[in-house]
Order: sequence, then C-alpha cells, then structure tokens
Amino acid sequence: MSRFLQPVPKWRVSCIIGYRGVGKSTIASSYVEGKFYHHYDPTIESILYKNINVKGIDYNMKIIDTAGQDEYTLFPPAYAQNIHGYLLVYSIDSKMSYKVAKITYDKLLEQTGNIILPMILVGNKSDLQEDRVVSVEEGKELAKYMKCPYVEMSAKHISEVDSLFEYLLELIALDNPHLNPQHPTEGADGGDDKNKKCDIS
Ligand code: GDP
Ligand code: MG
Repeated sequence: MSRFLQPVPKWRVSCIIGYRGVGKSTIASSYVEGKFYHHYDPTIESILYKNINVKGIDYNMKIIDTAGQDEYTLFPPAYAQNIHGYLLVYSIDSKMSYKVAKITYDKLLEQTGNIILPMILVGNKSDLQEDRVVSVEEGKELAKYMKCPYVEMSAKHISEVDSLFEYLLELIALDNPHLNPQHPTEGADGGDDKNKKCDIS
C-alpha cells in the first residue's frame, strides 16, 4: 500500500467508572503498562493513552480513569460527553460496589439521555473466589437491566484486561458504524457486524 494511503489511527475515548477500590486504576494502568500494575491512590482521576493495533486497525486509545463514584456523588457531566464507550466496574467481593454500579448506570443514563450505551459491566477481582459475595447470576441480571454485556475478570490477568478493551472497541464499532471503517479483509459492505460474536463470555 502506498504510504499516502496509510490510514491514520482512530481515536477512541473510553471511560472507567464505578465504586472506589474496585480496580478501575489497576485495569487502566495494567492495560497501558502491559503488566499487572499496583494502585494505591483511591481519589485521583487520571487520563492514560495507548496506541494499539487490533485486527489490522490502528487506534489511539484515550482512557479516562475516574475517581470513585458512590451513592451520593453527582455524576460529573464531563464523563457523559465525548466518550465512545464505558467500562462500569464493580468487584465480586463487594456488595456495595455492585449496588453503586446500578446507581452509577442510572445517573449516566440521566446525564447522557441515551437508552443504550456502548458499555461493559465488569465484575472484577475474579481471582478472589473465596471472598465472592456477588454471584455470576447477579452480574448477568444487572447487565440485562443495563442492556449491555457482562464480563467477569481479574485485572491480575493481563490477557483478560487486553480482551476487555478489545471487546469495548468492538462494541463501540457496532454502535457507531460511521466511526468504523471496516477491516480491509471484510469487504466493502463490512459483512454482518451485528452478528459478530465476541470471545469473552
Ligand atoms: P480503584 O479505586 O477502582 O481505582 O481501585 P484500584 O485500581 O486502586 O485498586 C484497589 C485495590 O484492588 C488495589 O490494591 C489493587 O491492587 C487491587 N486490585 C485491583 N484489581 C484487582 C484484581 O483483579 N484482583 C485482586 N486480587 N486485586 C485487585
Ligand atoms: Mg483509582
């Protein structure tokens, strides 16, 4: 391909929201660093960047790692604008974080006015099975309410973190076909994207 036809990377902005301590910063930093990254500061919001090629397409990822939400915090309007996709995280060892996930979702809908958002509900810390207080069924039930996929994972496993962001990129593409020039091998009409299956259950 001529260098003049080389496609420029596509900007994708994702936002990680949820209760404090659920692993938002760990997920973001582990993804960017490529290894499990310990986090200690519960209060700071940060913005991270990663350039990545997924299935032949180059992306510039901007990841907004938000400070924790709780039942009473107002949902910051900035987190409802110019975001392509959300990771709404709770921790399987915390009922409170599960409860706050639902509250946060309701606030997000109110702010954005959207019925369905490109979003994944993430039950993090799946390595802590002995401390589990939120069942897989409860996770699926909440995801049904949110009309979004549910993923259980551990930020300690970097392959799961990578898969999570790939999945979010897929959802963003499905939701915004105009944002998503098809992969060159998929043909001019792009195939039947709506039926595309993701690798994460
Ligand atoms: P945040 O407040 O949501 O940003 O949470 P942090 O990313 O700061 O993580 C809070 C604590 O949970 C830290 O001690 C992390 O090392 C730990 N943590 C994050 N993800 C996981 C995980 O998947 N498994 C386990 N066991 N610990 C995790
Ligand atoms: Mg954090």
